[in-house]
Amino acid sequence: MDPFVNQLAELCRAHPQSTKWVFVPSHGVGHTLGERLALEGTNWANLRFAIPLDLALQIAAPFLIDRGINPAPDVLGPALIMRLLLELPDTTPRYFRPLAEHPKMADALWATIRELRLAGIRAKDLQPAVFASAAKRAELMTLLASYETHLATQHLADSASVYEEALQHLDLAPILPDDLRVEMPGVVWAPVERQFVDALSGRRLPPSTFALSGMASPRRLALLAPAQAIVPPAPTSDAERLAFLLAPAEAPAPRRDDTLTMFRAGGKEAEVEEVFRRIQAGRLPLDHVEIACAASDYAVLLWEKAQRHDWPLTLSSGVPVTLLRPARALLAFCAWIAGGFPASGLRRLLQSGDVRVEIAEGPTAGQAARLLAKSDATWGRQTYAPALAGVAESYRQRAADLEADEEVRAGHLTRAAQAERLAEWLTALLALAPEPGSDGRIALGDLLAACTTFAKGYAATGSALDGAAVLALAETLDELQPLGDLRRPLADGLALIKDRVETLAVGGDRARPGHLHVATLARAGLAGRPYTFVVGLEEGGVFPALVEDPVLLDEERTALSPALATSGDRVSEVLLFVASRLARLSGHVCLSFSCRDLRENRETYPSWLLLQVLRLQQPGKDLTYDDLNLALGEPVAALLSSPDHALSDAGWWVSQLRGAGNQGRAILMDAFPWLAQGEAAEAARVSDAYTAYDGLVPEAGLHLDPRRSGRPVSPTSLERLAACPFRYFLERGLGVEPIDEGEPDPDAWLDGMTRGNALHTLYACILREMRSQPGARDPLRHLPRLQALGEAKLAELRALIPPPSESVYAREAEEFLRDLAVFLRLEAAATDRVPVGLEIAFGTGDPQGEPLAQADPVTVDVGGGVRFPLRGRIDRIDRLPDGGYEVVDYKTGRLWLPGGLTATFAGGRQLQHALYALAARQLLRPENPKARIAFSGYYFPTARGNGRRVMRSQADSSAVGTVLRDLFDLLAGGTFLHAADTDDCKYCEFHRACGSDPVARAEVKLANTANTALDAYRRLQTHA
Ligand code: SF4
Repeated sequence: MDPFVNQLAELCRAHPQSTKWVFVPSHGVGHTLGERLALEGTNWANLRFAIPLDLALQIAAPFLIDRGINPAPDVLGPALIMRLLLELPDTTPRYFRPLAEHPKMADALWATIRELRLAGIRAKDLQPAVFASAAKRAELMTLLASYETHLATQHLADSASVYEEALQHLDLAPILPDDLRVEMPGVVWAPVERQFVDALSGRRLPPSTFALSGMASPRRLALLAPAQAIVPPAPTSDAERLAFLLAPAEAPAPRRDDTLTMFRAGGKEAEVEEVFRRIQAGRLPLDHVEIACAASDYAVLLWEKAQRHDWPLTLSSGVPVTLLRPARALLAFCAWIAGGFPASGLRRLLQSGDVRVEIAEGPTAGQAARLLAKSDATWGRQTYAPALAGVAESYRQRAADLEADEEVRAGHLTRAAQAERLAEWLTALLALAPEPGSDGRIALGDLLAACTTFAKGYAATGSALDGAAVLALAETLDELQPLGDLRRPLADGLALIKDRVETLAVGGDRARPGHLHVATLARAGLAGRPYTFVVGLEEGGVFPALVEDPVLLDEERTALSPALATSGDRVSEVLLFVASRLARLSGHVCLSFSCRDLRENRETYPSWLLLQVLRLQQPGKDLTYDDLNLALGEPVAALLSSPDHALSDAGWWVSQLRGAGNQGRAILMDAFPWLAQGEAAEAARVSDAYTAYDGLVPEAGLHLDPRRSGRPVSPTSLERLAACPFRYFLERGLGVEPIDEGEPDPDAWLDGMTRGNALHTLYACILREMRSQPGARDPLRHLPRLQALGEAKLAELRALIPPPSESVYAREAEEFLRDLAVFLRLEAAATDRVPVGLEIAFGTGDPQGEPLAQADPVTVDVGGGVRFPLRGRIDRIDRLPDGGYEVVDYKTGRLWLPGGLTATFAGGRQLQHALYALAARQLLRPENPKARIAFSGYYFPTARGNGRRVMRSQADSSAVGTVLRDLFDLLAGGTFLHAADTDDCKYCEFHRACGSDPVARAEVKLANTANTALDAYRRLQTHA
């Protein structure tokens, strides 16, 4: 029951031929009222809803345009004010300017300036006596004057100017003297609006409104709202008794008709869920229901919940644009620029699905993220091109790997091409972001253009709302163009855009047929729906806090004009609006609040409005919050007490299974066989039996055994097999590639492998130069040359992988160059050994001019059927003074080997020394048929490694045959159990594939001697 709606209906019936004007604050309100009248059976022909500014523009625009003045939308305001503030002369005292770059400051100043202008106050009216601070008055007055000058010089008219112009030409107003006109009750217009509306022609009717007992009329109502026709409420249900909310003692007796209810919930999510459950349980048509939100965050929760359950919904306040893909993408793009283009940020953006990657033949966004993860890209614009070139090159090299099968190699070639295309795409994306000039600043216009191009061309859209978000973003960025030629630090520009985007909402709509409608509390009940839920009635959340305006204090406002709102006015006006909207609700009304803030983990309390509702329900009692607490009972929980109330299949199952124990489990497994399969797998894994769920794959064994396949293998891949057969199966059997998701370390530059490769290259380079020079070896003479080579390598790496900071670079560069010096000093101390081969590749294609290298693999035959092709790269072969040879593998990290420095084979994890000794013997044979490999092992030629040599005698080469036989038997049996040593899991990229504590599970399987499939693995462990 709404007396104003009744009044409009009566007007339509009584005066069908007359034009009837209704002044409303927005188009949405007008449309909603019109539709409500139609739904209630009223023919509302000749009823016109009008917004004062629309009428004023209609009257004033021809005159303004005739004089070359453009009516400027007020939305230009905040950006313009920020600019004007920044450009105030230095002689103007600084009061607001220290915070000028803060977008909220511009908003607050603009709101105040607009309010002043709509109150008819100009710069000259800001008299000194009004202000507590002379600096504030001076700066505000100069700012307002500069705004007025801007309007004049730029030939612009803001809303205040439009009203003033319209007031000069009232004879052109479309409202005729005989037309009827009425204003929506309770709307407090701005003074110039009031003046304009009052000056219009037509027969004025006072709007009908309820008498609200217990409510003092707000001060400004008498000044700025129309005189009202007061109607006494005559409730026909308990819900309609809400008209007596502020004076329950005056309400007629309750009817106990169940039309007014309340509940509380243990969280906002639970509260929203309960509303949805009640709608479903009552089988309420969605377009019979309105949900009025006392707080804005409920609208978001309701929208998300409706999306989840696929319920059509209209939101009067719209959806915050930050929930939609284009805005999320734009904010992530801005954060990526602000953070210095970190690869991790770009990867997250690509993985989010919020960005569109339209590259013919790929990669897709997901593939692009994986390629980036594979690359050495760290941060900075310049990191991407070389890093992706590196990825492409690495895939090309892997495509040449004869150990891999055809399909895998073809896949590598595809990815190499994708990496190159991604690099091109990224070049275009990076080109969008403006580069700061020598002053460290950018032109804001360039940044705005970049963000607009990104939003339109790169942000993903999957719905009409996403499309609306793109338009809203483009419009908002365009509105900031008045700041376009300002030069600001990049971070400030990005913060400005972020702040603007975060305030946007799209898709705001009135109540529509077939849709659940969500309104603000200030607009509750306008659509006249028979079921209303009012949510979020929490203490501190319904009414604004009594806080003064940050620009103009209450005292200053009062002194300037009685029409300006003080903090007290704002609270009393909202109270009036809320009370009068609740008073107009009819049908069924349910009010609720959340008694827990789950985010902050604290208790929250009901608004006093709910205590008033209880007093309405139980008249004549002296009720307190304790009584309200009792009356509300237990909070509604998100977990359902009954499956009948479930909104989805998942909710039904969860509530059914509560307390059902094993019986419930059996039914669940029956309904979802994949869950049963998962349970069976988990049970097998925790048992002591060795099963398919622990890596028993006999079929793969036959395929992977190099004795049968004839595919070349490297010592590294065999050592990885011995360390963890399960990982070997993932890599070589399934072709799974791990994704490196690690964030760049701000305290480290080069990873161990990159640094090691660089040192290896430089060791070989300098030794080759020394080898090419006749005469006695004098390594220290080459120190300047090696240092120069080292510096060039560091510069090359720096271009490829930008260091996180200068200090980190300086530290690591110093260590790198020091290790090069250590290397030459160690060489100088061992001039009796002669390097005869350096970086000797075999089976990897190009021998790169190294005399001992060969394109083909070496065939290893250790007897007993163990014959297979071996490929690899020997770091170095030295001829010793006694004529024997030593095979050397450089280790540039810490002094460590898998299984320990004293182990010989470490269960197969140290095989390289023996295999390279076998290979070296064959490679040396053409030059020296009697070549004898005396030692093979590891050399730590760095400061950390202390120059240590860990060599194994190669006098007896038969032992390696036994190790290889056990290793290949393990492979042939398809025995891919997890690692036996936790050390091997420490830096493993596949840890997510293994569940918790795979080593302990492997131990249990190995301990069960009934698992004969693991015999080869057990034997392998015995080769110390
Ligand atoms: S985490 Fe351990 S068990 Fe799992 S794959 Fe890696 S090394 Fe093997």
